[in-house]
Amino acid sequence: KKTIVWLRRDLRVQDNVALSKACELSECVIPIFIFDTNILNQLKNNEDRRVSFIFQTLKKLEAELKESKKGLLILYGDPMLEVPKIVKKLNIEAVFCNKDYEGYAKKRDSYICNELNGSGISFYSLKDQVIFEENEILNLQDKPYKVFTPYKNMWLKKLKEVNLKQHIFNKDKLIDLNNIKEIKIDYSLQDIGFKSSQIHLLPGREGALEKLKIFAKKIDRYHLNRDLFDEDGTSQLSVHLRFGTISIRELFCFADKHNSQGAVIWKNELIWREFYKMILCQFPNVENSSFKREYENIKWENNSEFYEKWCVGMTGYPIIDAAMRHFNKTGWMHNRLRMVVASFLCKDLLIDYKKGEKYFAENLLDYDLSANNGGWQWSASTGCDAQPYFRIFNPEAQSKKFDPNGNYIRQFCPELKLFDEKSIHAPSSANHKVLNSAKCRLGVDYPNPIIQHDVQRLKAIKLFK
Ligand code: FAD
Repeated sequence: KKTIVWLRRDLRVQDNVALSKACELSECVIPIFIFDTNILNQLKNNEDRRVSFIFQTLKKLEAELKESKKGLLILYGDPMLEVPKIVKKLNIEAVFCNKDYEGYAKKRDSYICNELNGSGISFYSLKDQVIFEENEILNLQDKPYKVFTPYKNMWLKKLKEVNLKQHIFNKDKLIDLNNIKEIKIDYSLQDIGFKSSQIHLLPGREGALEKLKIFAKKIDRYHLNRDLFDEDGTSQLSVHLRFGTISIRELFCFADKHNSQGAVIWKNELIWREFYKMILCQFPNVENSSFKREYENIKWENNSEFYEKWCVGMTGYPIIDAAMRHFNKTGWMHNRLRMVVASFLCKDLLIDYKKGEKYFAENLLDYDLSANNGGWQWSASTGCDAQPYFRIFNPEAQSKKFDPNGNYIRQFCPELKLFDEKSIHAPSSANHKVLNSAKCRLGVDYPNPIIQHDVQRLKAIKLFK
């Protein structure tokens, strides 16, 4: 029996449930990846970093498979047409893939499943991306949790019943691609209308293992260092988790070997990831509207000039500007900075969180609908288990606490590099002497603050009330 394993957000062969199952149940397996035009056509930038990351990862995977004379088919088009087409051309009996929980993916997969089933072809969609999915963690009334801590407690309780074994696959079952002549099986970035862009990190499983090796030395101190902007105290594995270059089971087993407080806190973050995926499945409306429906009526000011200044990092608040400039340059942002810039957009600039969510969606290398939506709705206080609306981050206080020497700001706002560690967090409060010695003309070299935090804070509370 000849089958296909269709890779999507699981760009690896190690511990891949669909691949393992396909090899178990078939005589011959063809791995494919499809550059999905329904997704690509929506990207604004033809140098999108995510496309480069995927492309480079696929090339590495291809090279890995070629070592044993196996291969990977890289296709391009609308999967709703491409999958049935290739199944017919290659005389395939079943398609295996790992489940994707986002709205578009669910519709696409259900359409393909129906098409294939109609012609007697099986479509297997398997759990791989998470340890517990959709409706596996429910409360005692069989309802989804809306608060993280009880969800986490139940999650950890259920974990005791699960064996996180690695899924192995039989390489001999993979097809030698020299045997496939019927279709074009390889596309370059140019062929699909994109250019290569700098991604500032190593793609593929190799990149994931490199990050894991570095993090193994840091995990025990994660709880102490994870909030410091200048410290690299977190794993930076989110991009790899997003594209599945490493499995969640492998990461959880890694953390389990570290018997430390840092490892416990880090595992909580992996559970937050599953919490937001569960929320997206159980409450799909969050994709377009507030979890707390009453907050849909907030009259955001939506000042477009403020929004532009936030995007480019010219707000006059150094920590916001450093974070946004770093983000624009690399597609990466530290978790606490994501919370601080998100809070600033909603509660200082009084702009709808959906605009910030969209900007992140367009530019984050690790963009994931559920985590991004969860993070934004948490910060905007519109989400489940969110920050209460009256708790508003003070950007200057956050900056002093988590970038105490100002080194992070100096790195991304070089015009402020001569400020001392006390005044760098709020140059506009510095006296003439300090400004002169820092060689910085406010309003010329660096902007004056576009808003006053204390004033906006009160306005935000009123808006919510
Ligand atoms: P670590 O601290 O090492 O955590 C390990 C892993 O746990 C992460 O790789 C990630 O997969 C998961 N994780 C950590 N924190 C969270 C969280 N709060 N929610 C869900 N999962 C989490 N994360 C994304 O993966 N994609 C996004 O698009 C995204 N958008 C966000 C937007 C906002 C406004 C906020 C506040 C947070 C967002 N997050 C997002 C969550 C978090 O910021 C990133 O996962 C984290 O910064 C990634 O860095 P890391 O891999 O070093 O994390």
